[in-house]
Amino acid sequence: MALAHYRMLDCTFPEVQEYLKTKQTIIIPYALSEQHGAHLPLDVDVRNTEFISRKLAEKLDCLIAPTLNYTFSGGMFPGTINVKPATFCNLVGEIIESLYLQGFRNFVILPGHGGSESLMQLKESLRILKWLNPTLSDAMILLTQIWDFSPTWFNMFDEKDYHAAKAETSLMLYWCPEVVRLDKLTMDEDEVAERLRQDPDSYQLRESFTELPQEIVQTSQRQDVKLGVMGYPEEASAEIGRRIETECIENGGNAILQAIADADAARKSGKRIVHDNGAHLKIRSV
Ligand SMILES: [Zn+2]
Repeated sequence: MALAHYRMLDCTFPEVQEYLKTKQTIIIPYALSEQHGAHLPLDVDVRNTEFISRKLAEKLDCLIAPTLNYTFSGGMFPGTINVKPATFCNLVGEIIESLYLQGFRNFVILPGHGGSESLMQLKESLRILKWLNPTLSDAMILLTQIWDFSPTWFNMFDEKDYHAAKAETSLMLYWCPEVVRLDKLTMDEDEVAERLRQDPDSYQLRESFTELPQEIVQTSQRQDVKLGVMGYPEEASAEIGRRIETECIENGGNAILQAIADADAARKSGKRIVHDNGAHLKIRSV
């Protein structure tokens, strides 16, 4: 039977108690307030993760934790709020520990933000959390980027479309066209815009005193980046957004349902998959 509420915040505590008798899955969405060019609002990543979380929760018939609205971006335009990765990672870990104590066992962390720093740090910090807190050994934590399950979206990375561009603008045009300011759509100077397409991390200026790779670089946002759109937002359409959503929910939903079933079975049988290589340390990021 479908849940009456998917947002845990809409439930009473006895309703959560009741839910936990039969299900132990929760989606944890996170994003942040971040620059998305002159044509998209600061909360694009929040909207992305909340729209997908909602659809995914319907498919999984599971609860959604309150969206965590703070993480690390690196962007320096007004309105972008950067929280140090360690702070953010600790917070996610403590949220998981708190929910675990109540009986949740399957955690689906859903970032709406794709910055490589926050993803890499979070993945490693959660691995260490499980390492140092073996109580969590029967907790399954999935860190699943929204685009992992959408060929339409991740193929755009090969076409050099990343931040605030075709994919994100399409999703906003599909979900909430009223927030898209197409009349304000502007790009950086051609050379800068192309550099950002070729390397989305090139919005960063990294400087050092020496050539030694051991020296920690000084990082800032390049002065010549005036908008920071990385890709081809002019090619966006609501239809592309609809396709991304369908793929995310169908492919992602099925994969996560399978993962939950596998985890439940493994908890009962005690079986674990042993990894002899470092595959679980790697992460595909943008
Ligand atoms: Zn974004």
